[in-house]
Amino acid sequence: MNLNNKNIILLSLTILSIVSITYLFLNPIKPEYKKISEVEKGDYVVLEGYIQKMYVKRDDYRHIIDIYKITINDGSGNLDIIVFGNVRKDLLNYILNYTPSIKEGDKIKVVGKVSEYNGKYEIILDDINNFMLIQKNNFKRDIYLSPYPTNIYASKYGKTYHVDINCPYGKRIKNKIYFYSEEDAKELGYKPCKKCCSSE
Ligand SMILES: [Zn+2]
Repeated sequence: MNLNNKNIILLSLTILSIVSITYLFLNPIKPEYKKISEVEKGDYVVLEGYIQKMYVKRDDYRHIIDIYKITINDGSGNLDIIVFGNVRKDLLNYILNYTPSIKEGDKIKVVGKVSEYNGKYEIILDDINNFMLIQKNNFKRDIYLSPYPTNIYASKYGKTYHVDINCPYGKRIKNKIYFYSEEDAKELGYKPCKKCCSSE
C-alpha cells in the first residue's frame, strides 16, 4: 500500500463520516404513526384519538384551573397523556384557548415516547407542540356558576335546583351554588324542584 492509497482510504472515510452525520442531522428519528393497541414501551409515536376523559381541577365556579391527565381512545384502546410542570400550564392554556374549550369527544394528536406506569402505557407530554387538536367534535358550551346570588340555586351537594328563594325545600340549603339560568342547571344535571319549579 502506497501513500496515495492510504490517502484515498482516509479521504473515503472522512467523506463517509460527513455524509452519515449530515444524514442523521437532516433526518432525525421520526415518530411512527401507530394504533394504541400496537404501542410498546419505549416507542416514539404519533397517536390520534378521541378524548375520553379529562382530569381537571375546577374552582368553585367551574372554571378549569388545572389539568393533570387526558385519556384518549382511538378505537383500539386507551392511553393516558400525562402533564407536569410548565407543560401543564401550556396544556391548560391550549384547551382554554378554544371556545368552547377542548372537551371529551374532541379528536387530538399527540407525539411522544411511550412509557409505562402501573402496568399501563402512557405518554408524558414534554412539549405543548406535541399536542394538537385535529377535530372539534364537542361543541357543548362551557357552563360556569354565578359568583353572586341569583334566584336559581341548588345545594352544593344535591341534584335539585330551585327557582324561588322562599321555597321551603330550598330555604333549608346551607351550601348554595347559583346558576345563571335554568338551562345551565339542567345541563349540569340538576332536576327542577317539584315545589317551586311548578311550570315544569
Ligand atoms: Zn324548590
